[in-house]
Amino acid sequence: MVPFPEPLEMLRTLIGEPSISSTDPTRDQSNLPVIHHLATWLEALGFDVEVTALANKPAKANLVAHREGRDETDGLVLAGHTDTVPCDDALWQVDPFKLTEREGHLHGLGACDMKGFFPLALAAVAEHRHRELRKPLTIVATADEESSMDGARALAAQGRPKAAAAVIGEPTGMAPVRAHKGVAMLAIRAQGASGHSSNPALGDNALEAMHRVMGALLAFRAELAERHADASFDVAAPTLNLGCLHAGDNPNRICGHAELLIDLRVLPGMDTATVIDELRARVEAAGAGTPVAVRTLFTPVTPYQTPADGPLVKTLEALSGQSARTVAFGTEAPFFQELGMETVVFGAGSIDQAHQPDEFVHIGQLEPMRNALSALVARYCL
Ligand SMILES: [Zn+2]
Repeated sequence: MVPFPEPLEMLRTLIGEPSISSTDPTRDQSNLPVIHHLATWLEALGFDVEVTALANKPAKANLVAHREGRDETDGLVLAGHTDTVPCDDALWQVDPFKLTEREGHLHGLGACDMKGFFPLALAAVAEHRHRELRKPLTIVATADEESSMDGARALAAQGRPKAAAAVIGEPTGMAPVRAHKGVAMLAIRAQGASGHSSNPALGDNALEAMHRVMGALLAFRAELAERHADASFDVAAPTLNLGCLHAGDNPNRICGHAELLIDLRVLPGMDTATVIDELRARVEAAGAGTPVAVRTLFTPVTPYQTPADGPLVKTLEALSGQSARTVAFGTEAPFFQELGMETVVFGAGSIDQAHQPDEFVHIGQLEPMRNALSALVARYCL
């Protein structure tokens, strides 16, 4: 029998392959080295591995690895993303691209979010490598979750993968997560005209237009909160945060332009695009003659939820000893959910350590996570 690498060895290899995805082209990197390691290991485990480059980004690819079952219906998907956010080396005390063990923690960029998931999933799958599967088992590794979600979008457009259930191994401290809010970030620009401050008729004050826009936004926020609430979230209402404002240059010039950046988080059941359309209509009207334009800073993340009494939710609650919950961060879950799978976010590590200098996962969580995944494979596929 060919020896299969230990999880720590796999994690060391994956952390050692930078795979940053960023909307800033100077920081954006390919994920192909990570994909190729996963492909090699999965082929050794008897999976049919398909690596598909993204149509718009040839240096990025998704991996779908499949092991057939006797009955080709249902089955299980274990999914994660291969990219990480960028990091600021100067703020790290350890090398972000070298797995470092310190005081019970494993540090490295992607240690918890979420390269750490793949070695545990593969080790769990390896335990069953010589057993015949009753139902299919699919491992999915996506590109660009942290920047555009283009990997998950491409899979959704292809209508795959299909299964009864999907686990997304994002860091949740091994609590099953069954819902999250949708996230949109918007830039709202008021375009006025500058002129000498002594005579308001010489220009069109963008800050005054923005003042009306902000009033309209706060009124819209209050209306949204009246119309929508979900008590399963820590913050039950949709939120709209006025994040930053850039405007004007001098006290004695009429303010020529102003730009406000906002963060909008909507509840499951709300349609993000409809909310943004309504917001756009409100702020354009509030401009009252001053042109106001709204643009999204990235394609918004859709809200997601799956029923609290679903079989996968219940199974993961039993395996982890934790009750299902909701979170405020976005994931690829809505794309898998839309393909008809019961989708739950469940992984080792904490979101508090994700996107942070010295990102880490607790060594103590690795074994329980691997055992939970192994039990899940047995439950769904054996
Ligand atoms: Zn992540």
